[in-house]
Amino acid sequence: MSTTEKHHFQAEIQQLLDIVIHSLYTDKEIFVRELISNAADACEKLRFTQSSGQPVYQPEIAPAISITTQDDAITFTDTGVGMTHGELVENLGTIAHSGTKAFLKQLAEDKKPDAKLIGQFGVGFYSAFMAANKVTVLSRSAIPDEQGWRWISEGTGGYEIEPAGDLPRGTKITLHLKEDAKDFAKADTIEQIIKRYSGFVQFPIELNGKRLNTIQAIWARSKNEIKEEEYNEFYQYVGHDHDNPLYRLHFTADAPLSIQALLFVPARNFESMGMARTESEVNLYCRKVLIQAKAKGLFPEWLRFLKGVVDSEDLPLNISRETMQDTSLMKKLNQVLTSRFLKFLEEQSEKDTATYEKFYGQFNRFLKEGIVTDFTHKQALGKLLRYESSMLEKGKQTSLADYVKRMGSEQKEIYYLIVPSREAAESSPYFEVFKERKLEVLFLYDPWDEFVMEHLHEFEGKNLGSAEKAELDLTEAKKEGALSDEEAQNLAKWIKETLADRVGEVRASKRLVESPAVIMDSDKFMTSSMRRIMKSMKK
Ligand code: ADP
Ligand code: MG
Repeated sequence: MSTTEKHHFQAEIQQLLDIVIHSLYTDKEIFVRELISNAADACEKLRFTQSSGQPVYQPEIAPAISITTQDDAITFTDTGVGMTHGELVENLGTIAHSGTKAFLKQLAEDKKPDAKLIGQFGVGFYSAFMAANKVTVLSRSAIPDEQGWRWISEGTGGYEIEPAGDLPRGTKITLHLKEDAKDFAKADTIEQIIKRYSGFVQFPIELNGKRLNTIQAIWARSKNEIKEEEYNEFYQYVGHDHDNPLYRLHFTADAPLSIQALLFVPARNFESMGMARTESEVNLYCRKVLIQAKAKGLFPEWLRFLKGVVDSEDLPLNISRETMQDTSLMKKLNQVLTSRFLKFLEEQSEKDTATYEKFYGQFNRFLKEGIVTDFTHKQALGKLLRYESSMLEKGKQTSLADYVKRMGSEQKEIYYLIVPSREAAESSPYFEVFKERKLEVLFLYDPWDEFVMEHLHEFEGKNLGSAEKAELDLTEAKKEGALSDEEAQNLAKWIKETLADRVGEVRASKRLVESPAVIMDSDKFMTSSMRRIMKSMKK
């Protein structure tokens, strides 16, 4: 008498399988990711069982994952918890997982179903049928007095279960590959896929005997356990850089979202080295399994120089590449991560000025881009700006916050002057009145700063004012030999007649000390440096 039992798939599972088999043609490779994460989950469960003191079958065998390729098949083996007869029936054939219905609904709504979603819905196992026309599962539960079982299905109608006698602990899943999926029997192809998606799985993964995942997911470990060299090695791996990073931020958060993040700032700004626009190299993971490489929307564009990893267990069921940017969860992640990183920079700028100066030298243009383009973080970014100042020696820079601390009570604005150099600043006629009245002026040497100031507009409640436009008088008494008001007016009149249309207006100024004359702008919105920029663009 045969001991083989025939089972029908539950209706929803069959419906799901029909879609998987007939409609999901793209991203077939994700079945590798799904089967490996199931294997890793099973290993994790075994570890948990053991650590809670329960006896397991074959305790001497360590949890691990191995994959082998054959002519037209591929096998995934793990030494995890395995499945009993009851678990095989329940897990691989019924909608024990609430995600099944949600996934079917999503598939029905999407014009182009995205296979990548399958794991998020808790139905990852069935992705095996994207590549296979027959799947065999051999499993032996970790429960000591259990036995081995064989589960076989072609994905249509149902599956069969029979006793499989003496098996080692764990699960062995063999996919008999479809004609158009034979590529997955090639070791090279599989190796690429495993490295891409499962490079950080915490249990050893071997492919045909070769260990693939040698770099650990250190972001999930506690900070004080990790050595400097480990961080650097990890950075070089994920950041594709030969140098060590300039900054590193390793943090975890529980609210409002569960996040584990390990972020790096490279030592150099690659964009400034004449290379193409940098692409964010922060990868998004969910429990150490890659969800999206170079995840778009995780950080604002102006933080595209960051490299590293963000892991969140809170990723929603319906996350896909196309919708990722729009989900409110993604926005929340972005908000939390960005604020945390800005806070980190602020802390660093106070703690270690020398390193911050290095960072600022390389990446200030990104912060400025943020001020101009990102309303939300404008003020936080304002705190990170650094400029030379008339009150500090050449080469020393101040923050706006320190400038404000030095302001006298009668001073209403933060003054800045856009100039090419320190020398030009100090000999500028626009600076004279400030020097005479001992008012601090920030010297801005980067042409971008003009726009930065316009957008930032104010800092800690103080307006940012161009020194070129400031309405200031010299309150000091007139110097000996100075022209009387009437003489000055006559001189102005004569100059206007002589220069005629070449100037708009000539008037006696009260803000000059040494210089005989200065060009003022009649245009409220354009300063001299902006004119210079416009002029250079017209060439
Ligand atoms: P999920 O992993 O989200 O639960 P899957 O469809 O990927 O959904 O897997 C369904 C269930 O099948 C898992 O929850 C697990 O109980 C069981 N399972 C799948 N693969 C294995 C395995 N290799 N070892 C033990 N159990 C497994
Ligand atoms: Mg799974």
